[in-house]
Amino acid sequence: MKKINIAIDGPASSGKSTVAKIIANDLGFVYTDTGAMYRSITYLALKTGCGLDDETAIAALIDQYPITFKPKEKGQDVFVGAEEVTEAIRQPQVTNAVSEVSAHPAVRKKLVEQQQAIAANGGVVMDGRDIGTAVLPQAEVKIFLVASVEERAQRRFKENQQKGIDTTFDVLKEEIQQRDYLDSHREVSPLKQADDAVRIDTSGMSIKEVVAAIKQTMTKKGY
Ligand code: C5P
Repeated sequence: MKKINIAIDGPASSGKSTVAKIIANDLGFVYTDTGAMYRSITYLALKTGCGLDDETAIAALIDQYPITFKPKEKGQDVFVGAEEVTEAIRQPQVTNAVSEVSAHPAVRKKLVEQQQAIAANGGVVMDGRDIGTAVLPQAEVKIFLVASVEERAQRRFKENQQKGIDTTFDVLKEEIQQRDYLDSHREVSPLKQADDAVRIDTSGMSIKEVVAAIKQTMTKKGY
């Protein structure tokens, strides 16, 4: 299989990372979770006591603490510097602060450069909000995943319960709506479907069906 790049964008909890991981694994491609990169910097900003509005200080953290991914049997671990933060970056404090941090142009500029370097030789499945529009506008395959907010909140609720994170369904739904609003209304590369992306509404679809729909899109494009 030719080493193409596959961009998977969409709103919060639309199932991007689950299907991106499966497709990367099936194709022998590298999976890159760009949300984890914004979450890692947000974690650092909270930990070091940086103001969330201090764009310069937060951007400096990116140089100070390199973000790395280490593949493991199921998925990958995330590190900032030497610290493993895989679980810490999924905690509600980080989730609820990440949209403010990711809206800073200086933060985006540095992380986008890193994301482009990862995908420079192809063979990458990258998920996020602006991959098809800003990070990899030349990606051979672009997918935009959507699902109703109820279904997304339900999925996140189940996931959280398994991880022991205790947030009610209603609060989760509100947080998801708030994050989508902030992510789609920021000035720099907001969450938006690329003109040439294929939109898939995953409401009522199983993970298997979503993966099959993406692979069908690839086949139609000749890959
Ligand atoms: O994908 P995930 O929900 O983990 O992303 C966390 C947050 O990171 C998003 O809500 C958004 O604010 C930010 N993000 C972004 N651009 C990306 C990926 C994520 O702004 N490409």
